[in-house]
Amino acid sequence: MITFVPPPHLLDSPRGRHWPPSPTAGPPSAPPPTGVDVAIVGAGPAGLAVASALWHLGVRDVALLDRDGRPCGRFFDRVDTLRQRVLRSPYEHHPGVEGYRDCELLDFARLHWSLLTPVERREIRMAQSGHRSVVPVDVFEAYCRHVATLHHVEERTWKADVGEVRPADDGVTVLGDGFALHAPYVVLCLGEERREAPADWWDGAGTPPGVSHWDRPVPSDARRVVVVGAGLSAAHLVANALGEGKEVHWVVRAAEERYQCADVNASFFRAEGRARFDGTDWQDRLALMGGHRRASVMFEFRPLLERAEAEGRLTVHRGRAVTAVAPGRAGSRAVVLEDGERVVGDHVVLALGTSVSNGEGLLPAEVVGARDGWPDLDERTLAYRNSPRVFAVGAAACMVLGPAARNIDGHRVATARVAGAIAARLEGTFEARPVGDLADREIARV
Ligand SMILES: Cc1cc2nc3c(=O)[nH]c(=O)nc-3n(C[C@H](O)[C@H](O)[C@H](O)COP(=O)(O)OP(=O)(O)OC[C@H]3O[C@@H](n4cnc5c(N)ncnc54)[C@H](O)[C@@H]3O)c2cc1C
Repeated sequence: MITFVPPPHLLDSPRGRHWPPSPTAGPPSAPPPTGVDVAIVGAGPAGLAVASALWHLGVRDVALLDRDGRPCGRFFDRVDTLRQRVLRSPYEHHPGVEGYRDCELLDFARLHWSLLTPVERREIRMAQSGHRSVVPVDVFEAYCRHVATLHHVEERTWKADVGEVRPADDGVTVLGDGFALHAPYVVLCLGEERREAPADWWDGAGTPPGVSHWDRPVPSDARRVVVVGAGLSAAHLVANALGEGKEVHWVVRAAEERYQCADVNASFFRAEGRARFDGTDWQDRLALMGGHRRASVMFEFRPLLERAEAEGRLTVHRGRAVTAVAPGRAGSRAVVLEDGERVVGDHVVLALGTSVSNGEGLLPAEVVGARDGWPDLDERTLAYRNSPRVFAVGAAACMVLGPAARNIDGHRVATARVAGAIAARLEGTFEARPVGDLADREIARV
């Protein structure tokens, strides 16, 4: 059998191009309003998708509250820290609104043809003919800005750290650093936090010197780097260090690293994959989540990493579990493996994945109703079953929509349910408008 391995040059794509500016009013300077129809906590791709869909449904009195203050800011900070230049997801996966005549990601890329490299143009042709293709982060960022402009998201996004979400019968109060906002409905789009190392990997609190996580820059003066983890972030860290001429050790717990398009089977991005979660009992869903989501690396890395290993620039420690990270000699750090072997480096980077923000810490525990770490959500609306005015979009919805809920495409599916439910419930309390007409007029004005 011939296996097609896409070449590593597809991973490279220019960053920071000058895209035609979007005519936006800019971010708001005043503190968040005290009352809106819908408050969205988190302005990542999920929050952007929800705000945009609500806009099309005529729900315009919306506030997005985000620690970072920029739509999709944390997402682009993370990929830029890793120097990730292309997305893992294809052109069809984008936070635009389905069912409206908005410009989709592929249309947007084609409209900016003159700004693209020959490789990027070829990838667009691949996407148009239904083949797997890679999307430049640069194109995706410009597109997200376009979607945010089109739906007036930037001017409704406040930099705010939300500390508490307090549901009551008549509405929900969102409390944060010096503000309180009341809304009939709140959507939590909190994303995922980086997964920390187990508490017993080192003594004391906090990350020790010489150790960092995937979402922090690696010191440029480290000559010998140890990377722990088996996913795409780990692969970027390994490739970056190799590119800088460093000696790299890669510790992978599984028997071997996995090369795959996505961490989950592509069917979970389609209706038939999501259907496997419909009406399935909890244990079966847990098994599906556990068995079908495993860390993997994009195919394009394979030739690059195999060559480095053959040349002795990269050592892969396969099938080795880490038990500790200990101080080494002369300021070095040692990753201690199960059998006691120590892998020593000037610097250790941990890429242990992410953990889902299910609403705990913001909502009362009885509202979250967490079971095995997942919130208790209504299957039809994605509202918290114990508090129907609060909804969740993003990774928190995985036990309803399957593992793709944490990805950009899953946000669109979740958004359709949540935005539709909110708009229907608000009907009568906001001015009903002919949605299609209005949306088209607003878009024409932009
Ligand atoms: C490096 C990397 C690459 C990825 N690549 C892809 C890809 O190619 N394709 C794909 O589909 N998925 C990809 N993913 C998965 C990706 O995380 C999601 O698709 C996307 O970022 C999730 O969007 P989100 O809005 O749910 O979360 P986020 O992008 O994390 O946004 C959540 C926002 O909520 C804010 N927030 C959280 N709590 C609070 C609070 N209490 N108060 C105020 N603000 C708060 C956060 O600061 C953040 O800004 C990638 C993930 C990573 C880490």
